[in-house]
Amino acid sequence: MKYVSTRGSAPVLDFEGVTLAGLASDGGLYLPEEWPQFSKAEIAAMRGLPYDEVAARVMQPFIGDALTPERLRELTAEAYGRFSHKAVVPLVQLDQQHWLMELFHGPTLAFKDVALQMLGLLFEEFLSRRDQKLTLVGATSGDTGSAAIDAVAGRDGVEIFMLHPEGRISDVQRCQMTTVCAPNVYNIAISGSFDDGQAAVKRMFGDEALKDTLRLGAVNSINWARLLAQVVYYFTTALQLGAPERPVAFSVPTGNFGDVFAGYVAAKMGLPIAKLVVATNVNDILHRALSNGDYSAGEVTPTAAPSMDIQVSSNFERLLFDCGGRDGAAMAAQMAGFESSQAMTLTDLQRSGSADLFTSIRVDPDGMAQAMRRTHQYCGEIIDPHTAIGLDAAHRVELPADVPVVTLATAHPAKFRDAVERATGVRPPLPTRIGDLFAREERCVSLPGDYYALTAYVLEHAQASA
Ligand SMILES: *Cc1c(COP(=O)(O)O)cnc(C)c1O
Repeated sequence: MKYVSTRGSAPVLDFEGVTLAGLASDGGLYLPEEWPQFSKAEIAAMRGLPYDEVAARVMQPFIGDALTPERLRELTAEAYGRFSHKAVVPLVQLDQQHWLMELFHGPTLAFKDVALQMLGLLFEEFLSRRDQKLTLVGATSGDTGSAAIDAVAGRDGVEIFMLHPEGRISDVQRCQMTTVCAPNVYNIAISGSFDDGQAAVKRMFGDEALKDTLRLGAVNSINWARLLAQVVYYFTTALQLGAPERPVAFSVPTGNFGDVFAGYVAAKMGLPIAKLVVATNVNDILHRALSNGDYSAGEVTPTAAPSMDIQVSSNFERLLFDCGGRDGAAMAAQMAGFESSQAMTLTDLQRSGSADLFTSIRVDPDGMAQAMRRTHQYCGEIIDPHTAIGLDAAHRVELPADVPVVTLATAHPAKFRDAVERATGVRPPLPTRIGDLFAREERCVSLPGDYYALTAYVLEHAQASA
C-alpha cells in the first residue's frame, strides 16, 4: 500500500515510512492512495472473532508488506492484551436505540490507548529493523500525552517530549504523565493553550535545521498508523449490532477529528454506517464547517471536556482532501490561506462530499451536564464530560428509530471526577490499578509556549540523533 500527502508534494511512502514520518514533509498528512474494500461476506466473517483478530484483519490491507500477517497478529495480541477488559472495547446498552462503546479500558483509561498501544509496538518494530532512533514530540490537550507516554516508556529506540497546556488538564491527566519516571520520557508544561503547543510542534516538523539534527516522529493523530488502529472498533461494534446487514450510526465526541475520521475510513472500506455525528462543545469550528462551510478559528474556551477544547482540527484536512477531489496543489493553497488568515470556506465539492455521511451538533455545558445526570438517573451509568457531549448529540440527531446509535465513550469518568461529581453527585473512584497515582513523585518542567524555548529544550535533552 502506498501513501500520498494531502498537499501533493511529499514523497510517496509505504506503511513503515508513514508510521515513522508522522507529518509529511510538505506539511500535509498522509493518506492511502486508495481505500481497500471489504465485501459484505468478508465483513460478516469477522463477527464473533476476538478484538485482536479483527484488528489484524482490518489493518492488514493498509500495512501491505511492511509486516507479515503472523507478525501483525502477534503485535495486535500484545497491544490489546494490556487492556483490563477481556472484550477490549465493550458495548453497553442504554435504551432501545442507544449504546455506549467503552474505549477507556486501556492502561491510562483513555480511548487513545487503543491506538497508541499499537503505535508504540510499531515504532519499536520498525526502528529496530532499521537500526534507527526516533525522537517523538507531541502536544496534548490531556489524554494523548498520558497514553503516548505509557505506550513508549522504557521502549528501545524512542524517546518522547510531551507538551501540555499548564493548568488546563485534569489532575489525573497530569499525574498520569508526570509520574512516569522512565528516562526516555520528558514532560513540558507550557503557558498557553493546546493550540499553541500544537503550533510549536508543527513548526518543529517543518524546521529543516532541526530535522538535520534529530529524527522527529509524531504521536498526535496526524500519524496514519494511529488513525488506522481506530478504524477497528467501528467494525467490531457495528458487527455486534447487526452489520453488515444493518447500518449503524456513531456519535463521536470530536476534537482533532481523528476518531471520527477513522469512522469515515471504515465507511469507505464498505462498512454500512448510517451517520457519523460530529459532536463538539462550544469550541465549535467543526460544527460551523460542516453545517455551513465556515472553517474559521476563534479563541479557545476552556471547558470541562478539555480534550475537545481546540479550534484547529488537524485531521479535518484529510477529509477535505478526500472529499474535495484529492487535489494536492489545491489543498496546499487552501491550507496556506487558512494558515495566514485563520479562516477558510469549504468548496462545494468538500461540502457535498461530506454531507451524506456526516452531521454535526454543538453541545453547550448545560446539555453536557444533563446528559451525565440523566444517564446516571435512568441507566445507572456514570459517564465523563466528553462522552456526555457525544451522548447529548446522539439524542438530538434525527435518525430512523430502527438505526442503532452508538456513542463513543472516550474517557473513564474517574479522569474527570470534579465535573462528574458536579453533575451527578457521585465521585467516581479511580480504578485500583492506578489508585496510588497521587502518591507518586512528579517530573515536569515549565516553559513558555514559545517555539525557540521549546526547541532549545528538546535539543539540549534529546539522546537520539538523525
Ligand atoms: C482525544 C479525545 C477526544 C477527541 O478525539 P479526536 O480524535 O481528537 O477527535 C475526545 N474525548 C477524549 C476523552 C479524548 O481524549
